[in-house]
Amino acid sequence: MLKNILTGSDCASCKICCIFDKYDIWETPVLDEKLKTLVEEKYPDISFVQKGDGWIFRMEEAEDELYYCPMLDHKTGCRLKDDKPFDCRIWPYRIMSLGGKRVISMASICPTMYSKPLKELVDELGRNGLAEKIFAHANAHPDIVKPYENGYPILMVEKDKL
Ligand code: SF4
Repeated sequence: MLKNILTGSDCASCKICCIFDKYDIWETPVLDEKLKTLVEEKYPDISFVQKGDGWIFRMEEAEDELYYCPMLDHKTGCRLKDDKPFDCRIWPYRIMSLGGKRVISMASICPTMYSKPLKELVDELGRNGLAEKIFAHANAHPDIVKPYENGYPILMVEKDKL
């Protein structure tokens, strides 16, 4: 979804968005029922935790105190390919709630995106209706909206109140 601004090779050499620590485990992607069912059919060993109307992967802490997404293949990347959760398709853009409004912010740990000029990051939201797609998806799946976290630069504020 972000192919204009983030290349496959950027992501293939990084994978930081698929590995979590105890401070950002809340960032794990939310899956809708359809995607959860697809994952269960393909990978019956994967288990989930319900989050509102959606689902998140049950992740086990590894010896290095990190949590690895169970869909991550360390050699080839995400095993879900084009079926990856919406959260992952728009990452490092995040949709969050702040003061009764929804905002689109950015996770600053993405090294490629964080090195880009702010204007480029904001312009990308306007290209091909990306911001509208994010807000529309959040309308249908409100569980992807996370409470605002300090340190996440806000790139766009929704005009309407929640
Ligand atoms: S679902 Fe795929 S892209 Fe998303 S965190 Fe897991 S491995 Fe990464």
